[in-house]
Amino acid sequence: MKHISIAVIIALSGLQFACSKEAPTTEPAAAVAEDGNQAALQASLQIEDEYMRGIIKEISQDSYEGRGPGSRGDEKTRTYLAERMAELGLVPGAEDGSWEQPFDLVGVNAAQPDQWTFSGHDSSITLKQWDQFIVSSGIQEEQAVVENAELVFVGYGIQAPEYDWDDYKGVDLNGKILVMMNNDPDWDPELFGGETRLWYGRWDYKYLSAARQGAVGAIIIHTPPSAGYPFQVVQTSWTGVQFELPAGDEPRSQISAWVTEDTARKLIAMAGLDLDDLREQAYNRDFKPVPLGITTSISLDVEIERVQSGNVLGLIPGSDPELKDEVVIFTAHHDHLGIGTPNEDGDAIYNGAFDNATGVAQAMVIAKAIKALPEAPRRSVLIALVGAEEQGLLGSEYYAANPTFAPGKIAANINYDGGNVWGHTHDVTYIGLGKSSIDQIATMIAAEQGRIVKPDQFSDKGYFYRSDQFSFAKIGVPAMYLDTGTDFIDRPPEWGREQQNHYTEVNYHQPSDEYDPGWNLDGMVDDATLGYWTGLAIANADEMPTWNVGDEFEAARLESLAPAE
Ligand SMILES: [Zn+2]
Repeated sequence: MKHISIAVIIALSGLQFACSKEAPTTEPAAAVAEDGNQAALQASLQIEDEYMRGIIKEISQDSYEGRGPGSRGDEKTRTYLAERMAELGLVPGAEDGSWEQPFDLVGVNAAQPDQWTFSGHDSSITLKQWDQFIVSSGIQEEQAVVENAELVFVGYGIQAPEYDWDDYKGVDLNGKILVMMNNDPDWDPELFGGETRLWYGRWDYKYLSAARQGAVGAIIIHTPPSAGYPFQVVQTSWTGVQFELPAGDEPRSQISAWVTEDTARKLIAMAGLDLDDLREQAYNRDFKPVPLGITTSISLDVEIERVQSGNVLGLIPGSDPELKDEVVIFTAHHDHLGIGTPNEDGDAIYNGAFDNATGVAQAMVIAKAIKALPEAPRRSVLIALVGAEEQGLLGSEYYAANPTFAPGKIAANINYDGGNVWGHTHDVTYIGLGKSSIDQIATMIAAEQGRIVKPDQFSDKGYFYRSDQFSFAKIGVPAMYLDTGTDFIDRPPEWGREQQNHYTEVNYHQPSDEYDPGWNLDGMVDDATLGYWTGLAIANADEMPTWNVGDEFEAARLESLAPAE
């Protein structure tokens, strides 16, 4: 970055962002800003390749065993990261004065039967585990049992009053197994965010939605476009131990399953129906559940283990006596999938170098740069390296339920999940663009970098709801997730997208997600630099960012800001 002007002047002069588009009018303020500008620019030089590369290389080694929650490798990762935080001069950020906010996880390991039989209409079909179905336990008990339950096709399985959409239409689904399409309606921009996948389009919503109906199970029909990833990601993510936060009083089904599209087609054909026809029906508001006249039984022996993982929290206390009670939180998840099913080469360690050692490295290098400032920002800055993200954002969900700053005091969350390992870009992906006033700050700073900010380039994949910023958004905190651009400097237009698609198809959630010394971290330097300046601007501004009016998370924010009664 050649020069930082307006954005930093705003950041350091404490001007309110809304009136910041004009340069400061008084000379002394400008002079102070200019000094601060130089210091902040100097500190930003701490954001460099070597420091990040060191962290990525370290925690993606085989000796970290893929950083599975509750494992030896998990503990080793947390210890290593806390040491690095201490070395940077952060202070322990957990409430009891330690580096870690521990949380309990219940590991649910269902022995999946090799086969699963379905009967009806005078015939039966037996499916093969792995190739055709993946099933896991929906409950934290030693056995999950379904006896003679009937399959009902329920379309998307969505109840969304704000879109006047209810796939269940009051039909009694107690004791049934719901067969559901993935994703949410995506053909009309006015419906469910169009191609942008909302929470309604995600598996966690689907299984919860089925449980709320009293269903004993749910089967999601996998298709690569509706999931945003191939079936092999289901295979590797849904086998072995599944971790959850300890069960509360929420409704739960006995089983949660996935089948391939081809398998769903066969099952539905048994009922004398056609999957494509059923899907056509489900594209309409007046769709009603379709009983398939097919029944099935299944029982899973479940091993339950209780383990502990933790969020590693490092704090940079703010310099303003009043604003230091407020905080900007940078997050990146430190966990990955651990040791699992070996690939063709016999490699069973899911190293998670890209996912998410690169994000951890970016959050850490930002901390290093902020610590290099002559004076801390006005608000505090928390580096939260959260655990158990791959199991459903569990570490960040735990933090959000047990925050070290009240939700209304958390100014913003800036998350990194994956980094750009392919070089400089003309653009940067800002997941969450269009949702909050952070937009203007990040857009302006990116412009200073000579880059443009783009919304989610793969919005059908629902990335906003797939990483830890979602846990913060749910408690009302304006949040953004910075991701790789797609327009690479000196590369053909489609090159970036090809690299990212290749990663998704070949390495995502596979043992082959390993550190590659050939990675070019120039783009990660740019993206971390953007997060640094954005975080700094937010930490120094008079007012905290806000959600745009009418955003899905605005109500939660207003509630968290309301004075306690
Ligand atoms: Zn990740």
